[in-house]
Order: sequence, then structure tokens, then C-alpha cells
Amino acid sequence: MTAKAPVLFVGGYGRSGSTLIDLALASVPGVVPVGEFRHLFGRALGDNELCSCGRPFRKCPFWADVIARAFPSGLDRGEVHEAMRAINRVVSVPRIRYGFGARGHFGRQMRTYGDALAAAYQAVLDVTGGQVIVDSSKYPLHGLFLRASEVVDLSVMLLVRDARAVAYSWTRQRIRPEVHWEEQNMPQHSLLRSSAAWSASNFLTGLLDDGSTPYRVQRYEDFVADPDGQLEEIAAFALGGRPKTPVAFGTGPRGPTHTVAGNPLRLAGDRLEVKADVAWKTELSAWQQAMIAVTSPIGMRRFGYPLAPQRG
Ligand SMILES: [Zn+2]
Repeated sequence: MTAKAPVLFVGGYGRSGSTLIDLALASVPGVVPVGEFRHLFGRALGDNELCSCGRPFRKCPFWADVIARAFPSGLDRGEVHEAMRAINRVVSVPRIRYGFGARGHFGRQMRTYGDALAAAYQAVLDVTGGQVIVDSSKYPLHGLFLRASEVVDLSVMLLVRDARAVAYSWTRQRIRPEVHWEEQNMPQHSLLRSSAAWSASNFLTGLLDDGSTPYRVQRYEDFVADPDGQLEEIAAFALGGRPKTPVAFGTGPRGPTHTVAGNPLRLAGDRLEVKADVAWKTELSAWQQAMIAVTSPIGMRRFGYPLAPQRG
């Protein structure tokens, strides 16, 4: 049996800073961030959104090479995408986590999707010569599937950010630059919806902390406070040992990245700076902040966020 591809799955909820951390990790030799890989067979290969190198996905030579290597006898993209959609539904959690009813059609879909992902991850490592892939899909069901299907050598990093900052970010109107054929906004959610989804995502990702999978909790706030130190820690976790050369944020050999989906930051070229985004402290009223804190108190406390309203 051939060795499985080492994959670090970054779990949690959207707007937690994973794109910034991806860009930072791209400078670490051996570490290959691929963005939100669960969208490979849909938004990337299907909808032909922009790769982070700026090209439409199906015109990106990097991904053409990866797909040719992964699927030498052709890829039934529609079938794989359909399997991904079935597996990424919340109702599939018990089937994936505990194996209930994972026979028949759903079982076949799990094998189809697992085989396709395993082939794609391995091809990324073959093309880049990298040691570990960072998959920032964040969506917990993707992580649960990777754990259950055992198609990769998995490690997990739960990325958390203050629920109030995350909920505020989801209320803001922003353009999706990766959609190049029309003008489309990123989805917006109410504060309460984001707050509930934040708790659910972090809880479900926490199920991967099962004692047999290497697991790390990373706070976004700790990263922006000490990007160099935290980048080294994350790189060491991803690589399973200290990087051979010293790493520092915003330095190192950073060529064009080729990542799937993610924050507009990934298409911003070489401009990479870290500044704590604390607009929520002034933009959210004390009442709004309190409402978010009381709807997600367990997670807020667990990850060390003060429940009292914060001012800028
Ligand atoms: Zn590309």
C-alpha cells in the first residue's frame, strides 16, 4: 500500500482568518496551502472561478497538471461533485461519523469522493514536491469525512476568532472577486445566525479531537499579535517538526499561490500585512455584542474570549 498524503485540515467557521494564514504558510518550504479544497470539483473545476494566481481555474496550468496526474484516465466531475454535495449535508453527520447507513448508494458516494480527494491531494504533492497540504475548507463535515474515510494522513487545526468579530464580518457587504463573469456579493448573515453557526462549527470540528488525530487550536487573535512566532508554531505542527529554515511572516520564497475559493485577500497579489481587524468593537453596540456572547457562551469562554462588551 502506498503512503497516504499528509493533510492538515483547518476547521472552524468562515471569516476567521484562514486565508491570511494560508498566505503566510505559502512561504514555508514543504507546506502547500490549497485553500478550500472541498470546492475543487464544484466552484473551481465546475464554475471555473478564479484561482488565486488570477487565472480562471480551468486555464491555470498548475491545476491542469494536478488534474492530469490525479485522473490519468479521465474524471467524471459531475459524479464526484454530486457525491461531495451528498456527503457535505448536515443530515449526513451520523452516517459519516458513526458509519450508519454508509452502505448502498451513499457508501459508493463516499468511496467515489474519497478516492477523488486522495488522488487530487497526492497529485498536488507530486507537482509541488511538498511535504504537507493545508486544506482550509473549514467546513467541519469535510474534516469529519477525511477522518472517517481514512484516505489521508490527517492532522487538524481548529481556527477560532472572537464570535463577535466573525458575526460582524458576515454582516458586511463585499464583492466576490473570484467570480469573474458577473458581479456577485459574498453571502451575508445576521448576527444571530453567524453566532449559532460559529458555535456549531467549532463544536463539530472539536469532534476531531479524538486522541488519535494530531489536533491544535489556533486563535486568530494570537496569530495577529505575533505572526512570526505563531507561523513557526503552525508550520511545526503541519510538518510534524520544526521547519529546517527559520520562517517569518511575509518573507521566504513565495511564488504565486494556487488556492481554491476563500477570502478576497487571496487575490490581492503580494500585498501581505497583518493588522488586527477590530472594527467590530466600535461598529457593534454593547447590546449586539452581549447578544452574541450569550448565544455562544461556552465557546467564548472555552477559547478565552471575555464575555463583557469590548470597545475600540
Ligand atoms: Zn492557479
